[in-house]
Amino acid sequence: MRALVLFSGGLDSTVLATQMKQEATETRLLSIDYGQRHAKELDHSQKVANHLGLAHEILKLPQLGQILGGSSLTDQSMTLPEGHYAEESMKSTVVPNRNMILLALAGGHALSLGLDTIAYAAHAGDHTIYPDCRPEFADAMDKALGLADWKDLNLHRPYVEMTKSDLVSLGDQLNAPLHLTWSCYAGGEIHCGKCGTCVERKEAFELANIADPTKYEE
Ligand SMILES: [Zn+2]
Repeated sequence: MRALVLFSGGLDSTVLATQMKQEATETRLLSIDYGQRHAKELDHSQKVANHLGLAHEILKLPQLGQILGGSSLTDQSMTLPEGHYAEESMKSTVVPNRNMILLALAGGHALSLGLDTIAYAAHAGDHTIYPDCRPEFADAMDKALGLADWKDLNLHRPYVEMTKSDLVSLGDQLNAPLHLTWSCYAGGEIHCGKCGTCVERKEAFELANIADPTKYEE
């Protein structure tokens, strides 16, 4: 497997990058600035990539955010919801068709580099609010990417049935640099501890019974 990992600098894709580094013959990372509220994730993606010693590209397309409105992740005028991920209010963090757009860009880059696999870290906890993290979506994208060129291209999605706490356990086993990852949607100096993704992150470490290296505001 020669893989390009769609890589945000968050916990899930960091576990995946670590696993691919150990299992694939070649691993490269691609991060995409799609106009998300803050650049914190991207700073952390660089730190993780350096730590893992993997080739890393940051594609800067912040204008994408202008055509992907209506989401609190790309629209600064909207308030970020706080609380648990499973709550209805979290649906405001869905960025319209984000994963198809990001996977399409990653597909083009992977093919141009002669790679045969795109790896992405969607997991079972994402399905509740993100329609483009469902296994059915991943299956359909795998088919589409395989038909996009005369060369084969697969979508590797090993975590679609795993929970976030499974990923924390796996990351711990693989010695993934979880302490360098960034989850918070708010993008302050340290993790806010209140937004949906902070709440989910805290809970995942607790459930996995692994010490959380993250500093939270409260
Ligand atoms: Zn937060």
